Amino acid sequence: MTSKRQLLITVDYEVFGNGSGDVRRHMVEPTERLERSCEKFGVPLTVFFEVEEFLAFERERKELIKTLGYDPAEELRAQAVDLVKRRHDLQLHLHPEWVGAVFKDGHWRLRPDRRTVDSLFETQEEVSAFIRERKAVIDGLYEEAGSKQRVKAYRAGAFCAQPGGKLLRALAENGIVIDSSLVKGMVRKDGHAQLDFTGAPADRRHWRVAADVAVEDNTGPVIEIPIYSRMGRRIQQLTPRRLMAKFSSDVPKNKQREMVSQLGMGRTPRSVLRFLAQRLPIKLDFHNMSSRQMLHWIRSAPPAPEVDLDVIVLIGHSKEHRDDAEFERFLAAVAADPALEVVSMSQIAEMLEKRAMSYPL
Ligand SMILES: [Zn+2]
Repeated sequence: MTSKRQLLITVDYEVFGNGSGDVRRHMVEPTERLERSCEKFGVPLTVFFEVEEFLAFERERKELIKTLGYDPAEELRAQAVDLVKRRHDLQLHLHPEWVGAVFKDGHWRLRPDRRTVDSLFETQEEVSAFIRERKAVIDGLYEEAGSKQRVKAYRAGAFCAQPGGKLLRALAENGIVIDSSLVKGMVRKDGHAQLDFTGAPADRRHWRVAADVAVEDNTGPVIEIPIYSRMGRRIQQLTPRRLMAKFSSDVPKNKQREMVSQLGMGRTPRSVLRFLAQRLPIKLDFHNMSSRQMLHWIRSAPPAPEVDLDVIVLIGHSKEHRDDAEFERFLAAVAADPALEVVSMSQIAEMLEKRAMSYPL
């Protein structure tokens, strides 16, 4: 690889967190447009494919066809194979609340008590088998597309990678060398997520981990490459672009109500002001930020300590993709900048594996 700053354009490929949404409208169609935009500029898209949800769609195939008039699992499978054939990248994404999910009376019943992979099973063997089987689903799609590539990276649903002792060991045992679940400075302690990433190495852009994605451990078998973010205040997040992404007519009404109640904004002017002033990390999200602001952040980030791995991870969600023109403005500016290049997770993993012997321990 070159000494360019490497950008990973990652997209989480899933319906909404409560199981609402439509596979064609919120996944397949917007992802096809994202792919086409990337292809105009000859760059790879890295798709974090939610396997647990896919398995639920397979399990409830008959009922879903009856209700929707099409087979969502089949559409996802076909698109994933097509993505690989078109030289994009598939990696593993899991939301454990889909484990055992049931489709009944036209909607999904998830298991919100199941938030982390570590909490699913007692033993390491069970967690390792769970990850092995999910990884095998995507590896099978690579194979079907005639590719020798295999899954090398993982992202936890809703960033819930803590605790991660069993999870990280299971990833390593299955040849997954990268985790990209962490957002520096993120803290969530509510009914939906329990995580605290405030202890992550502040000036580092990636580090080795063993039992906790936020704690550097030079003996760890997995490398954490966080989703890029900067600390800000919540009010800075309330851009028209973000509000459009979260509250457009594309988003199911019950999901919008759930988001508002989860925020815990309160109703008095004082509680609303306090809410807006909260400090929190703002992610480099190409569905929430303008191309101008993203380029400013990318260009002004301090150089990574390791010169040959100067990686910045961007995140987006297929269900939030609206504006092809803005996305393509960003890609055009990147293409015109000799200091930047877009790479895939597979390319980063390959590079890490090649220099595994010399990686500073
Ligand atoms: Zn997700």
